[in-house]
Amino acid sequence: MSTLKTLFIAALIFAASNAYGQQKSSPNYESYSGFTCDPVPKLPANETHPSLWFTADQAAAMRAKKDQDKQAAKLWKQVSESQFLTMDLLPEPSASDDKKVIHQYYGYMAQAAKYSGFMIWMTEDDDKKQKLIDRTTALLERAYDGPVYELDPKQKSGPTDEIYLGSWLQNYGAAYDFVQPFLAEEKDKAIRARLVKQCDYLAKNIYKWTSRPHNHLSKPAWGLGSCALALSEEKDAISWLGVALTAANENTKYFFSGDGIYREGSHYLGFSWTNFLPFMVNYKNVSGVNQFEDYKPVMEWGVAVRNSKGWLPNIEDSFIRPFPGHMAAYMYKDTKTSLHSSAPLSEVLMWAWNTTEMKPFEEYTERTTYNWTGATWDYTLPLDEYLTYDPSIKSTIPDSSPTVFLDGGQSMFRNTWKSGDASGRYLLFQGVAEADNHEHYEHLSFIISAENQMMASDGGYTRKGYGEKFRTEWYKQAIAHNVVTFNGEAPVDPAENVTPVSRYRIDTDFFDFEEKEAPYPGGGKLRRAIAFPGETYFVVADIVSAPNSGQAVAILHGGRAPMSGEGNYRVWNYEDDTYGAAAHLHAWTFGSAADFKIENAQGEVTYLKGDYAVFPYTKAIGNGDEQVILQVLVPCGAGKGGPRVSSVKNGNQIVVTVEDQNITDTFVLQPSNVTAKSDLVETDASFAWIRQEVGKVSKYFVREATMLKANGTVLMQSDKPKTEAKER
Ligand code: MN
Repeated sequence: MSTLKTLFIAALIFAASNAYGQQKSSPNYESYSGFTCDPVPKLPANETHPSLWFTADQAAAMRAKKDQDKQAAKLWKQVSESQFLTMDLLPEPSASDDKKVIHQYYGYMAQAAKYSGFMIWMTEDDDKKQKLIDRTTALLERAYDGPVYELDPKQKSGPTDEIYLGSWLQNYGAAYDFVQPFLAEEKDKAIRARLVKQCDYLAKNIYKWTSRPHNHLSKPAWGLGSCALALSEEKDAISWLGVALTAANENTKYFFSGDGIYREGSHYLGFSWTNFLPFMVNYKNVSGVNQFEDYKPVMEWGVAVRNSKGWLPNIEDSFIRPFPGHMAAYMYKDTKTSLHSSAPLSEVLMWAWNTTEMKPFEEYTERTTYNWTGATWDYTLPLDEYLTYDPSIKSTIPDSSPTVFLDGGQSMFRNTWKSGDASGRYLLFQGVAEADNHEHYEHLSFIISAENQMMASDGGYTRKGYGEKFRTEWYKQAIAHNVVTFNGEAPVDPAENVTPVSRYRIDTDFFDFEEKEAPYPGGGKLRRAIAFPGETYFVVADIVSAPNSGQAVAILHGGRAPMSGEGNYRVWNYEDDTYGAAAHLHAWTFGSAADFKIENAQGEVTYLKGDYAVFPYTKAIGNGDEQVILQVLVPCGAGKGGPRVSSVKNGNQIVVTVEDQNITDTFVLQPSNVTAKSDLVETDASFAWIRQEVGKVSKYFVREATMLKANGTVLMQSDKPKTEAKER
């Protein structure tokens, strides 16, 4: 083997081993649980225009929509007053221009074409209509002039990156679809030639630009698919659409879980949405193929994972994001959903959007001119919102249990679906098998929202941009997450594309519970459980075991707040800010290790791009080959103190008591099933909870127990170990 070839292979192996912290030859893109859509391309018998977003018959209804409610009126105002309808056509750039100039040129010209084309159908005034026809035509006659074919999309952060090409093509395809009925034959021919050339360029090159199936492959694929639908009578249209469907499937089968979780994180879901949603709408309208059925789990996931303000979490490479399910709602008007006993998914999606607090995103836009999509220069956001909005869809809050366990590895503990409710509690427990793009070392971590504030947190994506060194040095690392490291490493997947085990799922109205388990790369494992006693606060119970003694560190980031407290206790004090109301998170952490201690530390947290700052967090540290750590996390409103919390330790067994007015909760945690005894309780459970109300035992939970006694009274007894929650 030549030296060069050896070096090349060594580099490949190195790249692959970095992705998981585990050695392996190359990522397996086939073995995950994601979904695919029908890969067989379907085109209509005849090409008709317009057909991608609506037909000529539907134009009057599209026009009338603007007067139907406030939301439609607001979107209409944004669309009809858009700068893309009035801006002068930009001068053609050259390859040597600044990359921002080149990017903005193509992004703006393509958006201007789509806006102008759309407005042709929205006006009944002949003069205005002709002006819009002329403008759309002029824009399309210049489509892809300039240096686009001289520049290599593979160039890192280049101005013609394939992720932009996808959006430009989608916009030009839509513009052509709108204006085509008004084009003279010669102009039509010339414009088609421009679009055909770009479709060919994408179809031939997208696999060369991106060899791996992440968003850089699927975004241009969806763009290509839309334009193939706009040019369906072209001889190559069927093969363009075929390439688009295959490349998109490579993304969906690897980056989505079967139950809709997007593994690149919330930001890249939104960034991909700007392309897959238009494609899906176009495909359904033009060819009658309904991919929305395949994407239904994605829509339900977006509702299940959002916090009470409607924000998707900032886990993996992501800032917090809204979930734009309102744009898909009209495709689910007859679709049943697990989130509601009778209302269709459309109504739940509409509720989710209508109860999303947009203030932080609007402030961000005001500050930076960029919107939440990550594609401000390329994506026609308000126009697509108007096109897809259906004022007839009611807003219906889910009536399913607010606690949701997903087999893809995310669990959401909640006591209510309601928004803006200070007593609302939300904890996301994260254990999704890692993909090979935009992944963080956050296995078995958690984040908390409560009291209308973001509390326990993930460090976030980055300060401002993907390319920052600090992203990989801090934000991506275990230390920036609420994980338990062992000898400095976070837990990992049991095997490639295999989700960490979840077990003992309990969902009642007085107690929720789940345990996840994941191995450490250097040997050993973490069993981490989340308990939700009384659905008012959270207990995190860890069992760390390893073949050899090592250092376990339970990290607790309390989010954006100053912290105080000492010994086993800390409190984060939140002010009224962009992310929520003034509030507190009271935290107690107990460990069984002989040398157990809690250290204060400082680390960066970012929820929105650019809004980064250093905040305090804690490291609970212990050495041993088997130890337990128990955290009591109590959210409270402003000015409110926490409960009284105390702990007794006996070797590897910990008993923790939480007293709050008339309620006393007692927790037992141990790594095995020997008998644990305290003043109150006797049990062989590896985790137990006993609630006393006004001195009387009212509820309990045991994990893997054959016996539980309180003050000598038998609460449960069994021949075989049982896990159960009971009210008495
Ligand atoms: Mn993270």
